[in-house]
Amino acid sequence: MAEEEKYVQAIVDKSQDFSGWYGDVVIQAQLADYAPVKGCMVIRPYGFGIWELMQSLLDARFKATGHQNAYFPLLIPESFLAKEAEHVEGFAPQVAWVTQGGEDRLEERLAIRPTSEAIICSMYSKWIDSWRDLPVLINQWCNVLRWEKVTRPFLRTTEFLWQEGHTAHRSEQEAEEEVLRMLGVYRDFIQEDLAIPVVPGRKTENEKFAGALRTYSVEALMGDGKGLQAATSHNLGQHFARVFNITFQDEDGERKFVWQTSWGLSTRMIGAVVMVHGDDAGLIIPPRIAPVQAIIVPIWRKDAEKEAVRATVEKVEASLKPAVRVRSDWSEHTPGWKFNEWELKGVPLRLEVGPRDVQKEQVVAVRRDNRAKEMVPWVKAPDRVPELLAEVQSSLFSRALAFREANTRNADILADFEEIIADQRGFVNAHWCGQTACELAIKERTGATIRCIPMDQAREEGECIYCRLPSHGRVVFARSY
Ligand SMILES: [Zn+2]
Repeated sequence: MAEEEKYVQAIVDKSQDFSGWYGDVVIQAQLADYAPVKGCMVIRPYGFGIWELMQSLLDARFKATGHQNAYFPLLIPESFLAKEAEHVEGFAPQVAWVTQGGEDRLEERLAIRPTSEAIICSMYSKWIDSWRDLPVLINQWCNVLRWEKVTRPFLRTTEFLWQEGHTAHRSEQEAEEEVLRMLGVYRDFIQEDLAIPVVPGRKTENEKFAGALRTYSVEALMGDGKGLQAATSHNLGQHFARVFNITFQDEDGERKFVWQTSWGLSTRMIGAVVMVHGDDAGLIIPPRIAPVQAIIVPIWRKDAEKEAVRATVEKVEASLKPAVRVRSDWSEHTPGWKFNEWELKGVPLRLEVGPRDVQKEQVVAVRRDNRAKEMVPWVKAPDRVPELLAEVQSSLFSRALAFREANTRNADILADFEEIIADQRGFVNAHWCGQTACELAIKERTGATIRCIPMDQAREEGECIYCRLPSHGRVVFARSY
């Protein structure tokens, strides 16, 4: 019992100290650990299991929209990176350089990729020659490195894992369609698989990707009322094509520059899952990305009971295996300890099997999200357990959506805006004139930035919250990660 109490107390109270709670959950649930190099993290098997499921679900969506995977090198020659001025300026403060190979000093410094536009574009200029070669629809799953001063596991780390899609098209319209298609893929993946509601929108000039024509993103609200950019999709226009000379001969015989896009989502989404769904007992993992969807906890007191319980557990486990990621916990701990452990790890469903359940030919199912209990006859388990998982998945989304709605407010004057950002946080919908100067002044004053200009922005006449010039619609502000 003492052990049990100690275990629960190890997590800081979420409402008291959100940031401390987040750190405790990540470490205690064994998602990740701190690495010897500051700013890096070790993703432990349980955390990596979540990432692998995210990867497979997202990758299937990429394949379904016609994309293929490839792999490009980690090292990028400095001269390549320097070709696009805006791009290199945007990344320069965060680039790590390789200057030596073995004992030899390199003639040209090599950047450890902060992103791969430069290296991929240099290859596309070789591969693309005719309109028949287009579109090129390539994605890569890899690591990137951006030297960060302030880091936090998953949310901001110097090295992180992600995917980056890089496509080339014949026309601006085709590229824009691709950018919006991938924004939709991210929205669906994050809402349906991660159970996190998002606001799709366009970034302001100030917040767009270095070197892009336009950047779109999906924005999510975390449990502490701060925003998080969940994924981005960039229309790169012809900037990189001109710099890297990516041209094709069109049907009309003319030589033209391609239109390009890039889009990405990273391991920071694991942090988002923790922050959106978790509670004081720890993680709550949406069933679709849960490495263990159902944990069977056997309960017995006397050895004589153990064998009967074991037979039942084995039977139930085998019957669920084809449709559910299920495990049974036979470790040498008390049932209470196991309940805490698997709650901390956010397993969506617990199935208890005790001597009484053996007699009644049932299991006791307990949902992680609301702790609702239900007796499920063994024979019905293969149907009922997947149903319960689907219910957990959809109720997590509903709960997160209700939270976001309760924490989305309108503000029409700056004093109200400042008060909301300071006291309640959340998303604040406010009018903005479109000038970067106002955007920066608001950021300076309140710490809030424009998360996006929503795709479904309603036309509404108003005045900029800062300068009172006319505005035709509200944009989404928040403090953010
Ligand atoms: Zn203004």
